[in-house]
Amino acid sequence: MTGPDMTGPDMTDTTPDMTDATPDPAAARVAPREIVLALGSNLGDRLANLQAGIDALAASGEITAVAVSGVFETSPVGGPDQPDFLNAVLLAVSGLPARAVLDRCQAAEQARGRMRTVRWGPRTLDIDIIACGDEVSDDPLLTLPHPRAHQRAFVLVPWHDVDPDARLPGFGPVAGLLAEAGEDGVRRRDLSLAVGRQAAANQGG
Ligand code: ADP
Ligand code: MG
Repeated sequence: MTGPDMTGPDMTDTTPDMTDATPDPAAARVAPREIVLALGSNLGDRLANLQAGIDALAASGEITAVAVSGVFETSPVGGPDQPDFLNAVLLAVSGLPARAVLDRCQAAEQARGRMRTVRWGPRTLDIDIIACGDEVSDDPLLTLPHPRAHQRAFVLVPWHDVDPDARLPGFGPVAGLLAEAGEDGVRRRDLSLAVGRQAAANQGG
């Protein structure tokens, strides 16, 4: 060795260096807040896909499903020619960071065989985060609130259905946004989704 001896006891730092430790988003927690999720499906058994999405999100116990809207059939907006969607909005509470919620949403989509081939193309299950409390983010990987929610009738109609007093952070009351966007292409179906099935199953009920 030609340089100074760096291995002496005075130079040895055995405390872990936290500065370049990658934070584990799965381990982090924030104060629980309301999460608004928009679910859509236009391939396969659409109602079963939406229900499976709700059940998958609730399965770990880290996202508590609170209420779900009615089910609405909607004409596709943008993208290629494709079948009509079933859409619903789920209200949930979670202390997971928003990125971890997005991971859970994408895992639920994958579990339903979601393929990402065509942008805005047909899908078995799409789960978008509309809002995470009052969090605001312009990160393209997770933009909050969702950048197009304020003008999408297929989000606003079911959201207003499950929570008539809802507000979209930065945009105001959903009722007002809905009045502006109109309800064209959105029809209520006589179908329903359930919250709490997973919790009941976990308790053997
Ligand atoms: P779509 O825009 O049709 O929902 P995808 O579901 O394939 O398309 O999502 C594309 C990307 O959008 C995701 O990989 C995700 O990182 C990003 N994204 C940005 N903001 C959000 C959000 N609020 N909710 C869900 N995904 C988002
Ligand atoms: Mg999506």
